[in-house]
Amino acid sequence: MSAPRIADLLRAARQRLAGPQAALEAQALLAHVLGRPRSHLLAWPERPVAAAAAARFRTLLARRAAGEPLAYLTGEREFWSLPLRVTPAVLIPRPETELLVELTLAQLPAGPCGVADLGTGSGAIALALASERPAWRLDASDASAAALAVARDNARRLDLAARVAFHHGPWYAALPRGVRYHALVSNPPYVASGDPHLTRGDLPFEPRAALAAGPDGLAALRALVDGAPDRLHPGGWLLLEHGHDQGAAVRALLRARGFVAVATHRDLAGLPRATLGRLPHAALPRPC
Ligand code: GLN
Repeated sequence: MSAPRIADLLRAARQRLAGPQAALEAQALLAHVLGRPRSHLLAWPERPVAAAAAARFRTLLARRAAGEPLAYLTGEREFWSLPLRVTPAVLIPRPETELLVELTLAQLPAGPCGVADLGTGSGAIALALASERPAWRLDASDASAAALAVARDNARRLDLAARVAFHHGPWYAALPRGVRYHALVSNPPYVASGDPHLTRGDLPFEPRAALAAGPDGLAALRALVDGAPDRLHPGGWLLLEHGHDQGAAVRALLRARGFVAVATHRDLAGLPRATLGRLPHAALPRPC
């Protein structure tokens, strides 16, 4: 039997996967197996693919067809234009979380600020901020040692390890004792534990602890708001991602804890997705 050509493998894969993303996903998997960019597949559709590579491709295709997230199969997902390594130990970074990065960059000066990313997972938020602001000092925490290993690896690969320190433990308890920050940022778990959303798409394959947070999905958000004033400088910002229907609840939590300038922002899909607030200034505002 003659070796299959790139175009043959892609055609069969498109049919197998179906759906609007089928062509792109098939290309991403074959590019991953061949260790080439997608442009290579498009430029050389007639090239034969060696039997071992074709077999590896078919295995990945079957796993994708059974629901495994594409990012776990290729081991990579781009966030803020940074190629991040991802494994099933971490939440797959979502495009809507880039809103949190944008808001944080917009609130603080580019000078030497201290910023903490709570529940960093793959390191996405902390590494995006570090890549944009060489003068900032980033602390990033996670309760999962396996997630932190992925985040540290990403920091090394992106040459950002000198600017981000990683800490193991739950929320603020993981951060260096007594340190206060100019901003605290988090994309915590916020899905209600009984939400059917957890059974759909990529979510069943992702770490449950990174997604679900109690019966109303607010358990982690409450803990983060509650502990924030003890970890922020006067005038410091707390920025939180949340579910599209949790904006009012998160604004109320922030106001009840003394935050001012509380506002919710919409993601690219037009959904209320991130809420931020600032501690009042004691005297003259001197953020960093
Ligand atoms: N935005 C994710 C989803 O619903 C959830 C991420 C999270 O809980 N932080 O798909």
